[in-house]
Amino acid sequence: MSKKTAAPKDSCDSAEKAVSRHFIQQIIDADLVAGKSERRVHTRFPPEPNGYLHIGHAKSICLNAGLAREYGGKFNLRFDDTNPAKEEQEYVDSIMDDVRWLGADWEDRLFFSSDYFDQLYDWAVQLIEAGKAYVCDLDADAMREYRGSLTGPGKNSPFRDRSVEENLELFSKMKAGEFADGALTLRAKIDMTSPNLNLRDPVMYRIKRAHHHRTGDKWCIYPSYDYTHGQSDSIESITHSICTLEFENHRPLYDWFCDALGIHHPQQIEFARLNITYTVMSKRKLLLLVQENHVNGWDDPRMLTIRGLRRRGYTAESIRAFCERVGVTKVNSMIDRSWLEDAVREDLNEHAPRRMGVLRPLKVVLTNIAEGEQRICEASNHPKNPEMGTREVPLTREIYIEQGDFMEDGPKKFFRLKTGGAVRLRSAGIIDCGEILKNDAGEVVEVHCTFDPDMSRKVKGTIHWVSAEHAISAEVRLYDHLFATENPDKAAEGETFLDNLNPASLEVLAEAKLEPLLANAQAGEHFQFERTGYFYADPVDSIDGKPVFNRTATLRDSWAKAKAKGKGNVKK
Ligand code: ATP
Ligand code: MG
Repeated sequence: MSKKTAAPKDSCDSAEKAVSRHFIQQIIDADLVAGKSERRVHTRFPPEPNGYLHIGHAKSICLNAGLAREYGGKFNLRFDDTNPAKEEQEYVDSIMDDVRWLGADWEDRLFFSSDYFDQLYDWAVQLIEAGKAYVCDLDADAMREYRGSLTGPGKNSPFRDRSVEENLELFSKMKAGEFADGALTLRAKIDMTSPNLNLRDPVMYRIKRAHHHRTGDKWCIYPSYDYTHGQSDSIESITHSICTLEFENHRPLYDWFCDALGIHHPQQIEFARLNITYTVMSKRKLLLLVQENHVNGWDDPRMLTIRGLRRRGYTAESIRAFCERVGVTKVNSMIDRSWLEDAVREDLNEHAPRRMGVLRPLKVVLTNIAEGEQRICEASNHPKNPEMGTREVPLTREIYIEQGDFMEDGPKKFFRLKTGGAVRLRSAGIIDCGEILKNDAGEVVEVHCTFDPDMSRKVKGTIHWVSAEHAISAEVRLYDHLFATENPDKAAEGETFLDNLNPASLEVLAEAKLEPLLANAQAGEHFQFERTGYFYADPVDSIDGKPVFNRTATLRDSWAKAKAKGKGNVKK
């Protein structure tokens, strides 16, 4: 597993891009020079509609759509919907929406493998006629036994040498529904002794009475994924059929089908799938998390589904930048989760307006400001982008600061509020600490300070604050990793990945205090709350005038950096 490594910030530089082309670009470059496929580049993203997309799929989408764009080629979206039992329209709709959101444009080329069922059936007949496919009576267990193992050859099915006529008749009866589910299969006649198990007479058709989300009850036989995938690429004239490494051993089979049928041959290229620390990536496991309510649905902001990332406040731009950065290789590796966070921070840092929000409030009374008095402070909406303007923030006698920004007997290096100390209130002035009020349990419940509007006075620390009178109360949700271990798939003896869940992955702050302007926040708006992170007005739970915020990411310690450069401000 890769250790925590900082993201290579400069890998997106165009100068570097020009020289370091990944291996798939190199293959395509060479194909174009050699004049292959009429010098076309046509890629596709072929999801199975059996779940929502995750960040691994985003990598595949960005890669395929990106190559098409780069070479002036075409990109298709095709649903490999061969398994009627697991596929649902809900998944189709969400996948289309997510692919579009990521910025991949399939134009008018939206396809479904199920659209090719008639063609695939005709081709199966063609293979039977050519003596290259046969109907087999072996059940699943027997078939497994006949298949042999990685170390030993398989043996021929006793039904392998049926006549073409008998095979045609049986296959036609399979289609007509004359046999029970699972009674017969159609198999390719290849080689039961091949060292590649995929070539040991793989199943092409199964009998299964299941309703298909597109073809309804028209079919009671369904083609296998392996019999469908390569030909679907071929039908669509795909030139470069890019998939993950586990399909390397399937490539000879896809090639065999195309050769046997004499049809266009896409070139399959395999790359390493994306793995990220502190998460699981298989759709089956994500589905389990949803079904067993370990998370609040597919769009739970802790999930690395595209839906979850969107709801958390990730931008499409940041996900594309992340995918670009992780690169394309043939070696399986584990990418540190922090790369993803870095990518969204960098994007939001540029664009998110600044606001002040106190997550865990402590009341401070400014004793020299009269009750009812209101001072207007002008605060910048973005430190580096004056075009984003300023806003007015009211300062009143009672304010809230962050509990963590006060320490009664703070040590010398604690540059926030402490006994006898002073601190700057962002965009307002300086407060000098006075009386400290405690409850019976000895906890600090209120701090009295005097306010000094002299902005030129030098103090070390700057903290955020809100007017107690004007602040809005809002629900704010903070997230940690969904799993407590770097590789949750690696479970201890007798445990599953679910035992690695992080019990503290969600913290809900019911009454955070936010500056009044945030009452107008619209669902789907991004903000940086100064010193506490990037926040996103939840698109589902926010209502007009009452936004709910999800923390997209914490801030990198940008204020500490600014301080190091002599610009003041405080370390968080
Ligand atoms: P999962 O293993 O999560 O269930 P899958 O591979 O079965 O995913 P598909 O719908 O078949 O899901 O995937 C569509 C495309 O996305 C395939 O081309 C697949 O290779 C690619 N893909 C899936 N997971 C990843 C990943 N982690 N990294 C890169 N590409 C991926
Ligand atoms: Mg798959």
